[in-house]
Amino acid sequence: MGKLAMAWFGTALWKRVLLALVLGIAAGLVFQQDIVAIKWVGDLFIRLIKMLVVPLIFFSLVGGVAAIGDMRKLGAVGIRAMALFMVTAIIAVTLGMVLASIVQPGAGLTITLPSGASMPERPDQSLVDMVISMVPENPIMSMAQGQILPVIIFALLFGMAMLMSGEEARPLVRGVEAVSAVMQRLTIIVMEFTPFGVFALMAWVAGTFGFDALIPLAKLVALNYGGCAIILLLVYPAILRFIARLPTIDFYRGIVDAQAVAFSTASSNATLPVTLRCVQRNLGVSKAISSFAIALGATVNMNGTAMYLGVIAVFGAQAFGVELTWMSYLMIALTATLGAIGTAGVPGAGLIMMSLVLTSIGVPLETIAFVAAINHPLDMMRTMTNVTGDAVVAVAVGRMAGEIDVEEFVSADDV
Ligand code: ASP
Repeated sequence: MGKLAMAWFGTALWKRVLLALVLGIAAGLVFQQDIVAIKWVGDLFIRLIKMLVVPLIFFSLVGGVAAIGDMRKLGAVGIRAMALFMVTAIIAVTLGMVLASIVQPGAGLTITLPSGASMPERPDQSLVDMVISMVPENPIMSMAQGQILPVIIFALLFGMAMLMSGEEARPLVRGVEAVSAVMQRLTIIVMEFTPFGVFALMAWVAGTFGFDALIPLAKLVALNYGGCAIILLLVYPAILRFIARLPTIDFYRGIVDAQAVAFSTASSNATLPVTLRCVQRNLGVSKAISSFAIALGATVNMNGTAMYLGVIAVFGAQAFGVELTWMSYLMIALTATLGAIGTAGVPGAGLIMMSLVLTSIGVPLETIAFVAAINHPLDMMRTMTNVTGDAVVAVAVGRMAGEIDVEEFVSADDV
């Protein structure tokens, strides 16, 4: 192996990823549109990690449920994780509404729809439809089509049935563990490609979007970034401190790879393999708890998205002069929380959920087309917030269940 290769592989992956992120932005700003030529490297990277998602979610959840061991403990872990998902989502959407009410990004705005902003397809789903469609008619079809929520439901039920079958299912449990081990190994291989993927994606974003596109909507962008920053710097550290009783600094050092991948891919699901690895290897959360909490959280737990839905709903009301009552705020909180849960962890999914929130308070759906123009930079930041939140919940639940290796958590020896 040459010296260069040794230096490369000898450097912790997170340092290589951060370097790639900075160099990518620089390259994008220098080469501008021409940088599109390397976008395929980023696309290749996204395909590689997407390739892992369905088997990883299924086997992690089934394996996680089986490893938790008994139904009572599963109940305790599941309820705690879900409670944290809900509470953080409600805090996030409230934060979004409060910030937008104070800063008033939509006040005095005469809305002209930006050219190039296409209206995303309106989902014709009502809330009831949404709940019903969570149960797969055919689990194999859901897997093939990459519908994550139904896959999660099937995996959870399958895992529970496996637990209840006891001795009889023992060989299958061992089989699932074996597949999980292989999937983890595959993840490590794919992750070596991360710096190149992150470089290409960041270069593409910086080169094509530039800063000019953002100026007219700067307030809205700043507000979304600010809201996410508050969640990252205040809400999560509070959970780490008061529930997990662990230092925030070590947490952030351990999770930075996943954050960089989330920021550049704008997809919680695509980041899932990396998040899982960071939480297990760097933060020392047991396999059982991390597989369960992260595989579930990547689709269900979206605080950045909840905050964003809160901000945009209030923004839309201001821009179109719709008066908001207490009832409207309650409706935003409810629909944004459910919307965030129902949002798929793929790029741009949060934008689609917007229609659920806006319809519930009578704000014109044209708001969506307006926001679509700046969706991507917002999506990057909210996805990073979403993914970080999954790791926070995994750590908190792991700590409550006594399933976290604290020495591993605080050690600087991160990969
Ligand atoms: N892209 C986000 C995610 O994957 C979802 C969203 O659009 O809000 O976490």
